[in-house]
Amino acid sequence: MGLIVQKFGGTSVASAEKILAAAARAVAARRAGHDVVMVVSARGKKTDELIRLAAEVSEDPPAREMDMLLSTGEQESVALMAMAVHELGETAVSLTGWQIGIATDSLHSKARIRQISAERMRSHLDEGRIVIACGFQGVDDDGNITTLGRGGSDTTATALAAALAADECQIYTDVEGVFTTDPRIVSDARKIETLSYDEMLELASLGAGVMHSRSIEFAKKFRVPVRVRPSFSDAPGTLIAPHGDEAAPLVTGLALVRTEARVTLCGLPDRPGVMSVVFEKLSERKIPVDMVVQNVGTAGKAEVSFTVPEDDLAGALTAAKGAIDDLGAGSVRSGTNVAKISAVGEGMRSHSGVASQMFRTLSDAGVNIEMITTSDIKISVLVDRDMAEEALAAVHRGFRLDDRSSRSLPVGHRQPAPSKNMAMVEAEIVGRLANMEDLVVSEADLDEQQSRITIRHLPDRPGVSADLFEAVAEGDVMVDMIVQNVSHQGNAEVSLTVSRQDVDRCLLLVQELVSQWDGAELSHDRAIDKLTVTGIGLRSHTGVGETMFRALSEADVNVQMINTSEVRLAVVVSADQGQNALQSLTAAFALSTE
Ligand code: ADP
Ligand code: ASP
Ligand code: MG
Repeated sequence: MGLIVQKFGGTSVASAEKILAAAARAVAARRAGHDVVMVVSARGKKTDELIRLAAEVSEDPPAREMDMLLSTGEQESVALMAMAVHELGETAVSLTGWQIGIATDSLHSKARIRQISAERMRSHLDEGRIVIACGFQGVDDDGNITTLGRGGSDTTATALAAALAADECQIYTDVEGVFTTDPRIVSDARKIETLSYDEMLELASLGAGVMHSRSIEFAKKFRVPVRVRPSFSDAPGTLIAPHGDEAAPLVTGLALVRTEARVTLCGLPDRPGVMSVVFEKLSERKIPVDMVVQNVGTAGKAEVSFTVPEDDLAGALTAAKGAIDDLGAGSVRSGTNVAKISAVGEGMRSHSGVASQMFRTLSDAGVNIEMITTSDIKISVLVDRDMAEEALAAVHRGFRLDDRSSRSLPVGHRQPAPSKNMAMVEAEIVGRLANMEDLVVSEADLDEQQSRITIRHLPDRPGVSADLFEAVAEGDVMVDMIVQNVSHQGNAEVSLTVSRQDVDRCLLLVQELVSQWDGAELSHDRAIDKLTVTGIGLRSHTGVGETMFRALSEADVNVQMINTSEVRLAVVVSADQGQNALQSLTAAFALSTE
């Protein structure tokens, strides 16, 4: 006998019949001896309908009233669900977010959960009732209703599971589980049996709409086992757990964001502190930034590009203009006809061939890559939006993710599970959090054994990145970070880091190619340091980049390269600044120095 949280998404409660089927599942679990908490979303497209209705009434509805309106969708569902449970012969109680006591901050439409009081739910459970909770909503300190952001019922579910120390959180939805990519876009996508929190966190944060990424932050922090299951059958679905499948393929899954936008600030002064100003402005507006690429400065001028969700573009442009005003130099450009494709997999941590394989597949499909960024378990590329679906399907085939006999897949070198010590540090930090959704930063690390190679004036056409990284992979050189950007003058520039012992070999491999590309320039820095900050929710908490850049700028450290992910943030600095940078980050994130 245990405690199970069962969450039902909109499609799974769209009709009376489906509500009764969902109720029957909860009743069966109750009769099997479990305590059951259901979390229910608004029916079908209800939330979309309410948003449309509001837009007909007002061009700019007050955020408070918008949350008041949207929360009604879930309230309708829980009442109907409680009736269905009663109909099936068990007792149930429906509760809104404020009746439960889901305390959030006051950021309407994207509120974060602070605390959840478990008492009221527990006393209902003790009296034998099924608790039916409204997903997606909470209440702020002043008693205003808040919502957690679109898709936020998943987050309510894992948060309640965490607060109640549930044995499992089951997410019932309209697909068989988590697939290798969105099965609605790529029909060959395959269901994944098991994946790790980190993989799901990256996939969700990079566009896999099946789970709200903040829900996986809760799962990881509080170690909640999550199972994504179909609501239309008894199939076992996908398990999301601390560690994925041991014999996992190099790439576990792909994600697509069709509506990404790109912002470039050019003509910026090339000195420490510039990134800090840019990130401060973006963070003030809580804009999630991805794919940050700096081009190495020419003639004292630097250029930085990043991507944001298209919905945040207007805010990002205002922020960028504010930064330029403060810096007294520069101009802003943006582009919207772009899409982001990401490959995620713990198996790629230490494998040089994944990047080159992805770039070759794209080039064979005639797709030009406009930007590249990596972190240890993902590679993201920015491509023309009109080619997005085609490119996604090609990469899916390229990695043989459609192959159902998974034994034929190349197996990755999964890194050993994080040390017990690290897991304890994380658990200890989580135990001390003032608010459940607060950022967790567990470690800052310095790698003093890296070198950087940069190639400027690369030809901007399909196949160039593929040629480059294939040459490196064939020479068996492990590449760590990759960033590539096409500057506004149409010049592509790529930087990569390799271990210092490999740099000469890598230069030889690259030199030959570069000499064939008209105008391309190869340079390198033998001694660079890489700093890594590890945690949970590093990208979704939009202030992390700002804190990091401010700390480095105050320590007069110039950032040469950067990569971001939900669990790791890495920057490259010159070797003589490594120790200094480490100290400033340790202090900025209040980390212990043991
Ligand atoms: P719910 O209403 O149950 O929360 P969602 O629409 O939010 O359901 O999520 C399920 C949908 O997510 C699927 O119908 C599918 O189209 C989409 N999706 C995107 N990426 C994936 C993926 N990698 N695996 C499974 N489904 C995905
Ligand atoms: N009803 C909300 C939405 O449509 C929350 C959810 O379904 O998860 O976004
Ligand atoms: Mg959903």
